[in-house]
Amino acid sequence: MTAIIWFRRDLRLHDHAALHTAALTGEPIVPLFIMDDAFCQPDAVADKRSHAFLSAVDNLAGSLQEVGGRLLIRRGNPADVLCQVARETGADKVFYNRAYTPEARKRDATVTEALERQGMRVHACKDLLMHEPGDILTRQRTPYALFTPYKRVWLTLPKDRPFPQPTSWRMCEGLAEMPGESAPLAEAFGRKRPVGSEWATALFGERTARERLQQFMHEAVHRYKERRDFPGLDATSHLSFALNAGTLSIRTVYHQALEAMEEARGEEVASVEAFVTELVWREFYQQVLYHHPHTTDHAFLPQFEAVAWENDEALFSAWCNGETGYPIVDAAMKQLNETGWMHNRLRMIAASFLTKDLLVDWRWGMRYFAKQLVDFDEAANIGGWQWSASTGTDPQPYFRIFNPVAQGEKFDPDGTFVKKYLPVLSEVPLQYIHKPWEMPEHVQEQAGCRLGLDYPDPCVDHASRRKLAMSLFQEAKDSY
Ligand code: FAD
Repeated sequence: MTAIIWFRRDLRLHDHAALHTAALTGEPIVPLFIMDDAFCQPDAVADKRSHAFLSAVDNLAGSLQEVGGRLLIRRGNPADVLCQVARETGADKVFYNRAYTPEARKRDATVTEALERQGMRVHACKDLLMHEPGDILTRQRTPYALFTPYKRVWLTLPKDRPFPQPTSWRMCEGLAEMPGESAPLAEAFGRKRPVGSEWATALFGERTARERLQQFMHEAVHRYKERRDFPGLDATSHLSFALNAGTLSIRTVYHQALEAMEEARGEEVASVEAFVTELVWREFYQQVLYHHPHTTDHAFLPQFEAVAWENDEALFSAWCNGETGYPIVDAAMKQLNETGWMHNRLRMIAASFLTKDLLVDWRWGMRYFAKQLVDFDEAANIGGWQWSASTGTDPQPYFRIFNPVAQGEKFDPDGTFVKKYLPVLSEVPLQYIHKPWEMPEHVQEQAGCRLGLDYPDPCVDHASRRKLAMSLFQEAKDSY
């Protein structure tokens, strides 16, 4: 008999649960990737992300070719394609790695039902997460809504080791001749390649992702804690796309971090621990969305569902385009629009500014990020937005509002980041770089940066909007 391995957000050969489990059967395999119809629409997924994702698919196809195999790529509805491929190859089993978002779970349930109706066996494996949503519950068997106790349990549970790569492959006979889409898909679908130093190491395939991981674990991870909040430094791992597309597995990343921890001395240990904490956040938000699927577009804290957002279209558009007049926010949005990536500190600043200064509904920002981010992950994006908007689990309290000037001065103290994405500010003296509206006219002239002409005036006054935001949140809370 034959086994189909359905690749999804796990585009690699190393340390792959479904592949490992299928190889143990010793049966011939059919590696399959399905491009569902939605993915093929011109603007269904942001260009940059689909280029990155399709490049990772191309890369997987290349890796399979190197070991004498082939990635069969088909388009269409997953249940139909899987049943069709099973008929063509005589496959009686499908192996895949579990996904956890509401939409993916619905799709997988439909597919499983259709395959089982045809008499096929379906094996869903644990791969995307170290600990799945039901693994970590409170004593009352309820999901954790607070991060710290969740993390405490997460850290103490035994961890899976990386799976060895199968040594013997037996591909299904006739695989090479079967009809299918041919790589390179990224070029074929005419998507735009993500640009910027953020992707300089082209993390889109398995090999480069592993190289980046090695490099990060030998260098930056040891100073991660003190440097990670500064967007002007290249201090974070840039592994979010690799983890989301599955060109790296969480087991590999986690165990490499443990090795880095063994080599670490003094303060470096706390740095590696801080990195591991971020991996825990990733799983925390997956379980929040799993247990609370309504948070895709409703506040986790119901009392804040009724905040009277102003939703001013012009202000929203200024935010999207990086034209608010607040340099740290504008540079952040330019980074997102140009490269498809945004530094974590900036994601928090930009989200806070949209919701608390511009009083625009967090869902508008969440959807904009979803369109622009190359590393988009539904659970992390919802979690990040609801944290910033003070509507989520463990949120930033609504009365503690980021001051965009203070955030800029603290985390981009020499203006390196702001000047990179807003070259019009490059000659602005440091004392004004995060508040250019305070520049006297003659300084504006000297710096070639006239307010309202070369760079916008601030679109709102932070101090008064802060007060208004607090009162709107308080009103929503009182009326609940
Ligand atoms: P590192 O600092 O090197 O962290 C290592 C890994 O830990 C990341 O690759 C990521 O997998 C995970 N991680 C780090 N921080 C978080 C976090 N706060 N929540 C969940 N996982 C985390 N991350 C996404 O992967 N996709 C998103 O769509 C996304 N949207 C976000 C939206 C907002 C408003 C906010 C505040 C955060 C969002 N994040 C998202 C989390 C975080 O900003 C990114 O994971 C991080 O910036 C990616 O860069 P890195 O790989 O260099 O991170």
